[in-house]
Amino acid sequence: MNIVETEVIRVQHCSARGVTLLTSKPEGFAFQAGHYARLSVPALAEPVWRAYSIVSAPHEPWLEYFFTVIPGGALSPHLGALQAGDTVLMAKAAMGFFLADSLADGEVLWLLATGTGIGPYLSMLRQQGVLQRFARVNLVCSVREAADLAYDAECRAWAAQHAHCHYVPVVTRGEVAGGLHERIPTLLHSGALEQHLAMTPLDPQRDRVMVCGNPDFTADMRALLNERGFTPCRRGLSGNMLFENYWQKATP
Ligand SMILES: Cc1cc2nc3c(=O)[nH]c(=O)nc-3n(C[C@H](O)[C@H](O)[C@H](O)COP(=O)(O)OP(=O)(O)OC[C@H]3O[C@@H](n4cnc5c(N)ncnc54)[C@H](O)[C@@H]3O)c2cc1C
Repeated sequence: MNIVETEVIRVQHCSARGVTLLTSKPEGFAFQAGHYARLSVPALAEPVWRAYSIVSAPHEPWLEYFFTVIPGGALSPHLGALQAGDTVLMAKAAMGFFLADSLADGEVLWLLATGTGIGPYLSMLRQQGVLQRFARVNLVCSVREAADLAYDAECRAWAAQHAHCHYVPVVTRGEVAGGLHERIPTLLHSGALEQHLAMTPLDPQRDRVMVCGNPDFTADMRALLNERGFTPCRRGLSGNMLFENYWQKATP
């Protein structure tokens, strides 16, 4: 693996476990909105590499990440302890297939996330043009509590600035202005999410769906979309649904 050193510009602890990290961007490093970087830190005796979606847009002069510190995790606690000026190791090539361009043409793009799974979508929102293909874009982000919506203000501003863009925050505990309160798969099963957006139910002809986040969410969404007749994107073949699964569930 080709490795490059980047320098921490800013670390912000935005909720109990949520952290935003800004680093320098290596010269010549190119990526597309939806790609991820592989990161590590030099302090570890044994190198540990983990994938993190890039939150910043390709044209921005730094790299931004949004991650959760997993207590006892091999890498994330080390990333969470970084300070400005520290070094983050990065694999020199951006990776991934979670790209809106992989989807077949459609009318409505749904960007569905749990927790830090909003990361790749933020890169897309920040890059003018990526979402212009679609007549309507619905960004839906589900977290436990309103305090976990680290990018809520940015998402609200984005929706307010673009008539065809809509943002629905979802909290499963407590309240959030203009939001809903059940898991996204539950809201889609009942039709409550489409109703909230004054739309008819999900439709594989009209809709393109991106799903990013925890394994229960991605598994439930895959089952729901399969039932509704959606087809996955495969290498070289456009489909109407795309998934990014952030981690595997431990097998009992
Ligand atoms: C393509 C891709 C992109 C990713 N992008 C991001 C991102 O933008 N932000 C982000 O926070 N993570 C992201 N991840 C997850 C990330 O790569 C690490 O798995 C995570 O940070 C935990 O690493 P760790 O070494 O601290 O924990 P590990 O030692 O690897 O894992 C400890 C335990 O925690 C579980 N686990 C892993 N992640 C989580 C989580 N978020 N919540 C609860 N349990 C978890 C693991 O299954 C394991 O049981 C991404 C993963 C993939 C595959």
